[in-house]
Amino acid sequence: CKIDYRPIPNLLADRVVLVTGAGDGIGRAAALSYARHGATVILLGRTIDKLESVYDEIEEAGCPQPAIFPLNFEGAVLADFVEMAETLEKEFGRLDGLLHNAGLLGRITPFDHYPPELWEQVMQVNVNGPIWMTQALLPLLKQSEDASVIFTSSSVGRKGRAYWGAYSVSKFATEGFMEVLADELVNQPQVRVNTLNPGATRTQMRRSAYPGEDPMTLRSAEDIMPTYLWLMGPDSQGISGQKFDAQPPRQ
Ligand code: NDP
Repeated sequence: CKIDYRPIPNLLADRVVLVTGAGDGIGRAAALSYARHGATVILLGRTIDKLESVYDEIEEAGCPQPAIFPLNFEGAVLADFVEMAETLEKEFGRLDGLLHNAGLLGRITPFDHYPPELWEQVMQVNVNGPIWMTQALLPLLKQSEDASVIFTSSSVGRKGRAYWGAYSVSKFATEGFMEVLADELVNQPQVRVNTLNPGATRTQMRRSAYPGEDPMTLRSAEDIMPTYLWLMGPDSQGISGQKFDAQPPRQ
């Protein structure tokens, strides 16, 4: 956990960074924070007006001009990601960072009531989509001198918890895939791969999972950005295959 990390203002200057689920919650905060630290950010998500509002905020702040890439992980297949990679190759020539942040909670329910369609939807958005997107983007990441791939995990992806169903399983799968990929890239240290668990954060997803909780007892997405910046930027160079937390565990 690097919540006390103090990044230099131009930490991500000249880096091209793609953030998935950039329109809301933690992804929105990460896109803005990366842009404010000098990155050219590619905003990927499924709701275009949300992406446009992040785009406008970045432009108004005078940060490097971002790009919008509308994509819904549901229904997206490898060919869509390859097409995306071709577009990014033409536009930017390389990718220095990839924050896999988009995620779907599904339903908190006893397993014997879990609908199979919803289970598959959660696995598609949280695991399969990001995996094929990573395969398509690897050649672009390898064009970078220092590329950081961050997968978003959760505490229920490190220890299973009753009723968390597909979401928990999807985060375990994410942790496993990160280890496999990091091990494959061990001789290509210019691409590092790690997981980051944001911890309890005040967003719509958290509200859905804990409707009775007072949101003001939680850290905001902005509060946890130091760890997101540290893991995306040069100060974590050489670190791969590790699991991080963006904030200390709650008491
Ligand atoms: P939000 O629900 O606030 O945001 C999720 C983002 O993912 C939204 O931008 C959403 O787009 C996007 N998204 C969802 N489904 C799709 C899809 N099919 N295709 C493309 N984009 C999609 O969640 P958080 O910000 O809280 O969560 C961000 C990440 O952090 C997730 O991976 C989550 O699992 C993880 N996490 C969050 C915790 C928390 O306490 N908040 C704790 C532990 C982990 P749209 O806005 O258009 O719906």
